[in-house]
Amino acid sequence: MVGVVALADAVRAGDRRSLARAITLVESTRADHRDDAAALLELLMPATGNAVRVGVSGAPGAGKSTFIEAFGLHIISDEHQVAVLAVDPSSTRSGGAILGDKTRMEELARSQRAFIRPSPAGGTLGGVARRTREAMLVCEAAGFDVVLVETVGVGQSEVAVASMVDVFCLLLSPGAGDELQGVKRGIVELADIVIVNKADGALADLARHTAGDYAHAMHLIRPRTPGWEPRVVLASALEGSGIDGVWRAVGDFMSEVRASGAFTRRRAEQAREWMWSEVTATLVERVRADPQVRARLAATEADVEAGRMSPTTAARRLLDGF
Ligand code: GDP
Repeated sequence: MVGVVALADAVRAGDRRSLARAITLVESTRADHRDDAAALLELLMPATGNAVRVGVSGAPGAGKSTFIEAFGLHIISDEHQVAVLAVDPSSTRSGGAILGDKTRMEELARSQRAFIRPSPAGGTLGGVARRTREAMLVCEAAGFDVVLVETVGVGQSEVAVASMVDVFCLLLSPGAGDELQGVKRGIVELADIVIVNKADGALADLARHTAGDYAHAMHLIRPRTPGWEPRVVLASALEGSGIDGVWRAVGDFMSEVRASGAFTRRRAEQAREWMWSEVTATLVERVRADPQVRARLAATEADVEAGRMSPTTAARRLLDGF
């Protein structure tokens, strides 16, 4: 416990090695580490909540890492400190996909005002999201006032990210339709800001066209954030153009939701949701660790697999013994 108090102090003082250590601790699934992580987060809590939390989602190849590097460099030039985190449950299988590659975001990674952390590997989406959420709090306590959370826009992970950020950005390439980009309609509905990237060279015209199409489409759907009309912004991460426009859009969004009270309501709702997902995750951990359950688990699973017992009955019996 003494270790945790010292670690919390060092994180709050902005010590980077301690920040990395603290995140490693919250990412650990070991039971004793979970206890320390909970104690650490409790100590850091008063210093959290002050960052602008920005989600960035897009299909592979849309230009996420190129964009986040340019965007991050722009943000730190505006006197902010930026932390970049990622939610990528597939990194279990591919062995560290997004943000795992050391060559990504080289210039941003070198800055003292930036901190980049790859997605925690392993486990379910819920587990990965939980660890990223906690890493976000640790970064905030260390003084980072902008947190970017990256995710690949092909599955459920953007829903998880949208539920942990203040503003959700969808990054698109010019031209290709939603389906071709692997972007589902439901994901477009989550977006507060749509960024049409690669608005440069031969793609510039097509990008303008795509932006027009999305501006029209966004008009027809119910905005995710009451009082905010989703904005479509053109950018070229490669040339660095339009990046300031995205940052302005984030600023406008934050002013709007702070003034309307939507910000406070969303944070409150998210906190309540986090609590319930913690209850669920912790319950499952406890059920699995329970000696009575463990004694019967293998036989019960075998019965279910062989069709001798229905999953519903099996679940009830396991929980009755808990
Ligand atoms: P990610 O998979 O979404 O992280 O995408 P990357 O950032 O790795 O970019 C995928 C490809 O698109 C790379 O070849 C980039 O050089 C290219 N790219 C990224 N941003 C731009 C841009 O603004 N304009 C153009 N023309 N190419 C870009």
